Amino acid sequence: MKLLILGIDGATFDLIRPWAREGKLPNLAKLMQHGVHTDLLSTMPPVTSPAWPSFMTGCNPGKHGVFDFIQPSGASYSLVNSSLIKKPTMWQILSNKGYRVGVLNVPVTYPPQPINGFMITGILSPKQGTISYPANLIDRYRGTLGDYRISPNIQYKPGNETAYIEDIYDLIHAHGKWALHLMQNEPVDVLMVHFIALDIMMHALWKLMDSNHPRHKPSAHQDGILGGYQLVDSYIGKMLDLLPADAHVITMSDHGFGPLHRIVNLNNFLMEKGFLKLNHSPKTILKSLAFKLGISPAVIYRIVEKIGLQNMATKVSKNTRNQLLGKFLNYDSVDWSQTVAYSMGHVGQIYLNMAGREPNGIVTQASYKRTRQDIVDALQDLVDENGRSLITKIILREETYHGPYTEKGPDIHLILDGYNIIAYPLFATNGKIVTEQIRGDSGCHRREGIVIAHGPQFKENAQLPISADIIDIAPTIFALLGEAVPKHMDGAVLVDFFKTPPDVTHFDAEQELRDDHTLNEADNKQIEDRLRDLGYL
Ligand SMILES: [Zn+2]
Repeated sequence: MKLLILGIDGATFDLIRPWAREGKLPNLAKLMQHGVHTDLLSTMPPVTSPAWPSFMTGCNPGKHGVFDFIQPSGASYSLVNSSLIKKPTMWQILSNKGYRVGVLNVPVTYPPQPINGFMITGILSPKQGTISYPANLIDRYRGTLGDYRISPNIQYKPGNETAYIEDIYDLIHAHGKWALHLMQNEPVDVLMVHFIALDIMMHALWKLMDSNHPRHKPSAHQDGILGGYQLVDSYIGKMLDLLPADAHVITMSDHGFGPLHRIVNLNNFLMEKGFLKLNHSPKTILKSLAFKLGISPAVIYRIVEKIGLQNMATKVSKNTRNQLLGKFLNYDSVDWSQTVAYSMGHVGQIYLNMAGREPNGIVTQASYKRTRQDIVDALQDLVDENGRSLITKIILREETYHGPYTEKGPDIHLILDGYNIIAYPLFATNGKIVTEQIRGDSGCHRREGIVIAHGPQFKENAQLPISADIIDIAPTIFALLGEAVPKHMDGAVLVDFFKTPPDVTHFDAEQELRDDHTLNEADNKQIEDRLRDLGYL
């Protein structure tokens, strides 16, 4: 093996540095000491679903076309999948060059693509689908390793910490064991192993370890996240033991992590400012009244939690949650003929209701910039109950995306209170603008992820003063392998990582693209349910 890429979803140096210093993460500490590391900036917004495609293609979302877990379209949305990535992945390009490549569990790789090697897909895969290439790969090892696990079986609810943590650790064991076994039985030149569990766990349990968190309470499970990092670290150690001495290791995350204090119902704000209008159907008027009286999804969730139906709710909700949400104000309640902007997506994305993009769009290209500026101006009034502005930064579409798919992306991205506050992903949780998180998530993403590069060509014991960008990793990998870098990639080779800067040359990579794959209804529903369980919808 020439190169092992370790993807640790959501990993942050804010946790790794102190824990590594205290000797709690010996293998990550070793990689940092004997390698070079720096912050790795994620896509905007820093979301798993655009970030991994940007890593795999070396391109910004405007060029590869994936901006979120979902692609909004006015009242509805569709889930993204790997066929919507409109640039070749490094797995394809390396395969074409004759490298044997293995890819395990990376988000947005379903449906799997034929490569010179093997692939098992990650989050956004249906449970029953063919999640591996070759299709029989999992069957070949199931006897030894048990069923392959993609995501958690248990959704976090306050009170179920013991069972939840056990299930998350089991997920890490599953991914670690499959990785070790495939390393020994399916030799490749480049192997990518991804761990999703820490991202999911940090969303749920951040408040337990963070004494500054507004919802912090002393807990017997305060070290749950540390335990997860340690488990990943121990599997990293076992993988390093299997590597030849001259192999390189790149350890990275797709974004960082930090506390989540509260959420904003951006659609309520847009409604208050007149950018979003409800229709006048009797149903909507009733729903609107119920919202104002405080009967909302948030209230229902709270009742379910109070009366201790958590576990039952997990089961029941899979079938009833959509119907339940349908009884409250939602995107069907919107009068699209009078609406110029709406929010959809779980960080802070605002889309204009564009003619030609949204099915009932009314904003024309001619009025685009003016309308958007009106919204930006109005956002100055987005304040908390003490009148403090929640806006840290407003990022306009063209400031972060370029390329043929730019117009599919959110028109405005908001950083609210340094990401301590994010938007509710769907319509709204209640009638308020700034409100509490309804499901109890207490952590969320930050833009600063990690990269640690280790091996004979990389610098030793070095921490770089400037951040790298997630789109730089793919070009760096080509340079590391002594290959020319595909011309279409937006990222740059991280020459400062190398002891001797490599000669960087470029070539035209083949742009073989796949036809759009549409998920069937059952798979679609299943993935959607999972995203909802994880708090992404
Ligand atoms: Zn992630």
